[in-house]
Amino acid sequence: MPEASKTTPEVTLDEIVALCKRRGFVFQASEIYGGLASTYDYGHYGVLLKNNVKAEWWRAMVGERDDIVALDSAILQHPRVWEASGHLAGFTDPLVDCRTCKLRFRADDLENAQCGRKPSLHPGEHSECDLTDPRQFNLMFKTHMGPVEEDAAVAYLRPETAQGIFINFKNVVQFARRKPPFGIAQVGKSFRNEITPGNFVFRTREFEQMEMEFFVPPDEAQTWFEYWLDERERWYTDLGVRPDYLRLREHPPEELSHYSSATSDIEYLFPIGWSELEGIANRGDFDLTQHAKFSGEKLEYFDQERGEAYVPHVIEPAAGADRAALAFIVDAYDTDEFEGRKRTVLRLHPRLAPVKAAVLPLVSKAGMPERAREIYEDVRSRVPAEYDEGGSIGKRYRRQDEIGTPWGITVDGQTLEDGTVTLRDRDSLEQERVQAEEIADRLAAKLAEPWQSPKLAA
Ligand code: ATP
Repeated sequence: MPEASKTTPEVTLDEIVALCKRRGFVFQASEIYGGLASTYDYGHYGVLLKNNVKAEWWRAMVGERDDIVALDSAILQHPRVWEASGHLAGFTDPLVDCRTCKLRFRADDLENAQCGRKPSLHPGEHSECDLTDPRQFNLMFKTHMGPVEEDAAVAYLRPETAQGIFINFKNVVQFARRKPPFGIAQVGKSFRNEITPGNFVFRTREFEQMEMEFFVPPDEAQTWFEYWLDERERWYTDLGVRPDYLRLREHPPEELSHYSSATSDIEYLFPIGWSELEGIANRGDFDLTQHAKFSGEKLEYFDQERGEAYVPHVIEPAAGADRAALAFIVDAYDTDEFEGRKRTVLRLHPRLAPVKAAVLPLVSKAGMPERAREIYEDVRSRVPAEYDEGGSIGKRYRRQDEIGTPWGITVDGQTLEDGTVTLRDRDSLEQERVQAEEIADRLAAKLAEPWQSPKLAA
């Protein structure tokens, strides 16, 4: 990965939150009840964008490869899973409370927290601060299965999707007839009772993960670890993220999780500064060995050629769908001036854009809406599109620019005479006349083309 050369974020989190709310990407959850802290609901365009992020991940992990299979495991698993994985004993953060301001902080992150009395100071620095000793706090959400709240019925909402993959290792080896190196990929909700959630959808207590566990012969682990670092970084840049805003950070030994012999984070320059977007870990044989020990099942692979059984090592690229969607929005956010007016535009990769094309009659009369609707039906049979006839054309374009629609198709008087429409490009703002029947094919072809952010040229 090239050295990241940027140091200052270009956009504030407030600007991103405002756009997401204004255009219905993300809302505060339980808003009419005053909101529930750090929980969010995705609206129409947010759902479409996040679905596209997940679809691109599936495409890269499964659609374009032969060595990875898909899985959708349950959120609730046997409680022993979390004993074996180490989450019950070790998935904790140290927390401290301030007896004065009643705020709670992560003891290992005080330098990034604000004192409740004086926000310019860190907790513990004000004369009135009265911090408790750190206590270990388990991040797993506990619940009960069945009608009786007794200890035997305790269950946990999964804090990661990975364990559901490890405990299905045997099934996949048997039924999908895979042999190492092979991977199992999963996308789904995870839950962590984070002490200090915040920064919009960057850190929430309920979020979606995109995780893949790649099982390899032990002597190939390092090679595959490096391979997945490159692959995952390329996934972001292929989808338009500017390389200058990405960097790789290797975990020093004291930061490594108990199971990991090497971990590197792909970081993005979020408005809150450089922060983790995805973690890539060499987990060794820790997980399969633990689950074998706790379940009594043999979790190994018998290599016919070598005539021996071994426990595969695991390389794990673990990404967050919400964090990735946030990074794509941040990276795409731009403002410029057009015909004397300021415009906000999301320069999203067309494959990520919630809507690919907007079909707009110039005015709501003279047969234009009818013709535009016909063209819209044709276009949306090939690419996701939207029809909009309300308000001035300028206002409608600005709305599409803000949700990142790459192409605008305008039906005007000339359309009714010669069958052509104008095709407007979101980024260059160039307009060309194209035969209406050719539009759907043109856009489908454009969607398949490689793309790079126009912000790179700027
Ligand atoms: P962090 O250090 O930010 O807490 P982590 O190292 O604990 O993250 P992992 O366990 O490696 O995270 O999870 C993989 C990915 O899942 C992260 O890179 C991130 O994209 C996503 N993720 C983890 N925790 C959260 C959260 N609370 N909210 C949103 N996404 C999250």
